[in-house]
Amino acid sequence: MCKAMNRSFANVLFGAFGQLQTKAGHVEQRPVRSASPEEAASILEAASSVIIVPGYGLAVAQAQHKIRELFDALTRRGVDVKFGIHPVAGRMPGHMNVLLAEADIPYDRLFEMDDINGEFAQCDVALVIGANDVTNPAARTDKSSPIYGMPILDVDKARTVMVIKRSMNPGFAGIDNPLYYMDKTLMLFGDAKAFVSEILKELPARAAA
Ligand code: NDP
Repeated sequence: MCKAMNRSFANVLFGAFGQLQTKAGHVEQRPVRSASPEEAASILEAASSVIIVPGYGLAVAQAQHKIRELFDALTRRGVDVKFGIHPVAGRMPGHMNVLLAEADIPYDRLFEMDDINGEFAQCDVALVIGANDVTNPAARTDKSSPIYGMPILDVDKARTVMVIKRSMNPGFAGIDNPLYYMDKTLMLFGDAKAFVSEILKELPARAAA
């Protein structure tokens, strides 16, 4: 894990800037770290445990079948892969369950929020795919946030967080996500299906090397 992480972090650049609304109402420009599909692949294959957190962007990208391929590729390498499902992820009740079932992801790898939240602290990588509001730690910590008090998936407690989304744009609630500015977070900018496809291209190449 460390070998891959050192290599990856050495290559990681401040790849984008996001806006953070301060308590005083000022808008601050803050850098985030981004990583390439190659770097993401090396972090994932070096991990012992990965929790994938899908959200609305998964549905937009129709990435469920590629995510199944990623699940298979990592599981074959001995990585323990689970899915954390938030009750309001997506845009309708059960949205994520429907999509993941369509891709035949084993049902016993799907965990409801309350059942998985205790596991993030021991997890090497939380891989957020097209989810935003349901991972926003401001819901736990920022009393002024419109989503304060909403239960979230505690992805920020994982050792490393990787987030696939296309930009720094907010999700349904229209608010910034402090998760993206944490030192442990790597932004994987791109369409969910395209980015996961690029990660998959890196995995067989590495196995053959
Ligand atoms: P969010 O709406 O918070 O975030 C979705 C994220 O997906 C966006 O930030 C967007 O970022 C990203 N995205 C969009 N298209 C793509 C793509 N092609 N590839 C990769 N990423 C993409 O979704 P969550 O699932 O986290 O949360 C659901 C929200 O919807 C909650 O606020 C919930 O309350 C609300 N809601 C849920 C309902 C339900 O019954 N489930 C009903 C009504 C509302 P970017 O644009 O940068 O790519």
